Amino acid sequence: MNQKILVTQSSMPHFDEYIEEIKDIWDSQWLTNMGTKHNELEKQLCTYLQVPFVSLFSNGHLALEVALEALELEGEVITTPFTFASTTHAIVRKGLTPIFCDVNPTDYTMDVSLIESLITEKTCAIVPVHVYGHICNVEEIERLAKKYDLKVIYDAAHAFGMKLNGKGSGDFGDVSMFSFHATKVFNTIEGGALTFNDEQYVKLFQTFKNFGLTGPDEISYVAGNAKMNEFQAAMGLCNLRHVDEEIAKRKLVAERYKEQLSGIAGIQIPSRQEGVQSNYAYFPVVFDGYKYTRDEVLERLKEHAIFARKYFYPLTNEFTCYEGKFDLGNTPVAAHIANCVLTLPLYANLSLEDVDRICRVIKS
Ligand SMILES: *Cc1c(COP(=O)(O)O)cnc(C)c1O
Repeated sequence: MNQKILVTQSSMPHFDEYIEEIKDIWDSQWLTNMGTKHNELEKQLCTYLQVPFVSLFSNGHLALEVALEALELEGEVITTPFTFASTTHAIVRKGLTPIFCDVNPTDYTMDVSLIESLITEKTCAIVPVHVYGHICNVEEIERLAKKYDLKVIYDAAHAFGMKLNGKGSGDFGDVSMFSFHATKVFNTIEGGALTFNDEQYVKLFQTFKNFGLTGPDEISYVAGNAKMNEFQAAMGLCNLRHVDEEIAKRKLVAERYKEQLSGIAGIQIPSRQEGVQSNYAYFPVVFDGYKYTRDEVLERLKEHAIFARKYFYPLTNEFTCYEGKFDLGNTPVAAHIANCVLTLPLYANLSLEDVDRICRVIKS
């Protein structure tokens, strides 16, 4: 029996490197609440992501909730159902109404030609997702946001370290959310961040992730707790030293997949986006008119101890918890992709031999 291949494997620094990094924490005995490691990671991420401001969080989901809450949004939010549960849940949990926009069939990001028809008097914001690290049509989204005075909050959980025409992926819209979950390209075990241009948000987000405290004796907002601790930040400082190397290795894997799977009828693989420097976070394959269905391919891979993932399936507007709430007829392209897509195993240490093995199973 061949060794199991899981869909992902977390990046970790060398054990000794992490131990060295956390030694200071024993000296300072400062475990959380904007400690030295936390502040150092914020600083380094500003440079790495090429953004003016970074605010760290305990995870990406709470970062997104804080962004929606702190910007005092109310009413309807135009978003995509082709995403992880987090995006839609954050909108709903903050008392907002998601209005689902379909995706385009080429890169599965929001179909910007449909956004305008979904805008009403109640629309307050657009929450697009750079899904699989495919960068949304940021120019058109910005144009619409300006025209209708809407806020734009990107779910950039998949877009760490990416660039569009030399500009950092977190430098678009009002705010971008990154996830540093263990399964992402860059991780702090659990963790996340908001990136933004407006200096006013520095204090605001700090307050909202810390119970609404604005001073030692002043609590100005009803807010929760979403602070990143020093051990998470230390993991981040270590992983950030190696992330370029990790991305380079992921690139080799992704290129091998491309080589092996391109030009096969009924198999759609991601095409390069013009001007985009990728992070090779995922390798989605759409089985559309292939001789086997997505589910058949998934099962066959499983028989060979290879674990791909139906990511994303189901669409968020089809979740059991939202049954009867949304009109599913509005997002047919997203529904089709969700029924046909698999993300293949992809991580820095996946060997090219294993990639070949995976492709052999798919092709046979
Ligand atoms: C991972 C992810 C999130 C949530 O991030 P966490 O850090 O796990 O809370 C949100 N949106 C998308 C698209 C994601 O992939």
